[in-house]
Amino acid sequence: MPTPSSRAEAATGRSHLRTAVQVGLALAACALVVLLTRTWAEDLFLEQTRARAAAKLDLYASNLSGALAKYQAVPRLLALNGDVVALFRRAGDPEAQARANLLTATINDLTGAEDTYLMDAQGMTFAASNWDSERPFVGHNFSYRPYFQQAMEGRLGRYFALGTTSGKRGYYFASRVSAPKAEGGEALGAVVVKVSLDDIEAAWTASEEDVIVTDPYGVIFIASQPDWRFRSLAPLDDAALKAIAENRRYESVDLRPLELERRALGSTGAELLTFTGQAAPEAGAEYIMVDEEMPEAGWTLHVLASTQLARSQTVTAMVVAALACAITLLIATLILQRRSRFIERIEYQRRASVELEHRVEERTADLTEANVQLEREIAERQAAEAELRQAQDDLIQAGKLAALGQMSAALSHEFNQPLAAIRSYADNAQLLIERNREAEACGNLKLIKDLTARMAEISKHLMTFARKPRSELRPVVLAEVLDDTLDFLRIRLERAGAEVTLDQPDCGLTVRAGRVRLQSVILNLVSNALDAMQGQAAPKLEITVAEVGERVTITLRDHGPGIPAGQIGRIFDPFFTTKEVGEGLGLGLSISYNIMKDFDGTLRAENHPEGGAVFIIDLPLLPAAALRVSA
Ligand code: ADP
Repeated sequence: MPTPSSRAEAATGRSHLRTAVQVGLALAACALVVLLTRTWAEDLFLEQTRARAAAKLDLYASNLSGALAKYQAVPRLLALNGDVVALFRRAGDPEAQARANLLTATINDLTGAEDTYLMDAQGMTFAASNWDSERPFVGHNFSYRPYFQQAMEGRLGRYFALGTTSGKRGYYFASRVSAPKAEGGEALGAVVVKVSLDDIEAAWTASEEDVIVTDPYGVIFIASQPDWRFRSLAPLDDAALKAIAENRRYESVDLRPLELERRALGSTGAELLTFTGQAAPEAGAEYIMVDEEMPEAGWTLHVLASTQLARSQTVTAMVVAALACAITLLIATLILQRRSRFIERIEYQRRASVELEHRVEERTADLTEANVQLEREIAERQAAEAELRQAQDDLIQAGKLAALGQMSAALSHEFNQPLAAIRSYADNAQLLIERNREAEACGNLKLIKDLTARMAEISKHLMTFARKPRSELRPVVLAEVLDDTLDFLRIRLERAGAEVTLDQPDCGLTVRAGRVRLQSVILNLVSNALDAMQGQAAPKLEITVAEVGERVTITLRDHGPGIPAGQIGRIFDPFFTTKEVGEGLGLGLSISYNIMKDFDGTLRAENHPEGGAVFIIDLPLLPAAALRVSA
C-alpha cells in the first residue's frame, strides 16, 4: 500500500515532469517562432534587396544603352558620305589612304570613340584613326569579326570583344559601304567604330552595387570588380569555347569560371550567388543577382546587390523575436504562477470551509447528543425527584406517627402521674372528711384542683398538637412558638435538669409558617439536644434568635458531644440515626429539613468550636406591612 510520503513523492515527480514538458514545449515554440521569423525576415529583406537591385538594373541598362547609342549612328553616317565612298573606291591608293587615315582620326576625335577604321570588302583595314600609333590597325584583316560579317550582309554590325591588335576591350559598330546604285551598288567594305568601355566600367566601381555585363555564354566582359573580368558565371562547355575561339573575342585570355554557387531566389527570376573561392570580394560573400538581357547589344547586364544588410536585418529580427519570446514566456510564467497561487488559495479556502463545516457538523452532533443526554438526565432527575417527594411524603407521615407514639407515651406518663396523685389525694380527702377533718380535706381538694389545672394545661398543648397542620402558611410570631414549645417540654427539661437560655429580641419577629409544624421542628431539635446531653449533670441548651437583614435565624447550641465530623452530611438523610433500636427512627431531622423548605427556609447543622452541636434555622422575615394586611 502506498504510504502518504511515497504518494507525496510521486505527486512531486509528476509535477516536475509536467514542468519539464511545459518548459520543453515553450522552448520549442520559441524556436519555431524564431525560425518562422527568420524565414519571414529573410524573404522580406532579400526581396527588398532584390527590388533595390532591380530598380538599379533599369538605371544601369538605360545608361549603358545611352552610352552606346551615341556611337551607333556614326558608322552609318560615314558609310553614306560620298567622300568616304570615294575613298573606299581608291582603297589601294596611298594618297587616298593617307586622307582616309586623317579623316578617321578627325572623326574619332570628334565622336570620342576609341578607334574608327575602314575595312575593304575582304576585311583588310586600309585606314584607321590610330594609323600613327604603335600598333595601328592598318594592314590587319578583321574579316573573322562578326561585326564585319554582319555589316557586309547589310545590317548594322554590333559586337564586343577584346581587341586582337590593341588588347583593349571595346564595343564595335560597323556599317557597310556600298558603291552608288547607279554604279552597281557593290559592297566596298565597312566603316567600323570601336567604343571604349573603360569609362563606363570605371563609373560603376564607385557604385554601391556590383555590375557586370556578360556575353551569351556567361563570360563577364565588363565588371565593377576587376577580378571578375573575363571570368564566367558558369563553367564553359566545349561548344561555347569553340564559338568564342572562332570569333577570337577573348584571344589569349584564360576564361576560368568564378567559384560560386547559384540558386534561384524564389520565383522572382533573381539568383542568389554565394562565392566559395578565395577570389574577391571574399569567401562566403553573398549577392542577389538580377539581370536584363540587352538583345541589341548582344549581352546581358547583371546587378549584384550584397545580401549583407538583409542578413544582418534578418539576424536582428531573429534577436527581436527571441527577446519577444523570452518576454512573453516571462510574462506567461508570471501569469501562470499568479494563477496557480490564486487556485491554491481558492483550494485552501475551500478545504478550510469544508473542514469548518465538518467541525460544525461534529460540534452540532456533539451538542445534539449532549442535549439528548441532558434531556434524558432531566427526565431521570424529575422521576427521581418525584420518587423522593413521594418518599418524603411517606416519611413525613411515618414521622408524624412516630411523634404521635412518643407523644402518647409522654402524655400517658404526664397524665398517669397526676391521676395517681389525684386518686390518693381524693382517698385522703375522703378519709379526712369521714374523720371530720374538713380543713385538711380542703387542702387535699386544693391540691387535686391544682393537679387538674396542670392536666388541663397539658391538654391544651395536646389540642395544639392535635390540630391538623394546615397546608397554607400564615404569619407566626416566633417568640410565641418558642415559648409554647419550651412550655410543652418543661417537664422533660426539669427531669433532665437542663438549663435552657433563650436570647431573642423583643420586637416580635414574625415569619410565614405553619405554627404546629414549626413547633414540631423546634421540639425535635430540643429533644435531640437533650438526647445528646443525656447523662450530663447539668445539660445546657442555648437558643438564640437573631434578625439578619430580611431574615431571621434561630440557633440551638447544646453542650453535648457534637456531631461526628463524618456524619454531618448524613444526619438529614431519612432513617439516619445513631440511637438504639426503638429509641429513634432517624426521621426527625429529615422531616424538619423538609418542613423548613416548605417555609422557604433552611435548616443546617455544624459543630461549635468549643464543643457541642449547633442547629441553625433560617427563615425569611415577614415585613410589618404584610403583617397589617394579613391581620
Ligand atoms: P433520631 O433522633 O430518631 O435518631 P433524628 O433525625 O432526629 O432521628 O436525628 C438523627 C441523628 O442525628 C441522631 O441519631 C443523632 O445521631 C444526630 N443528632 C441529632 N441531634 C444531635 C445533637 N444535638 N447532638 C449530636 N447528635 C445529634
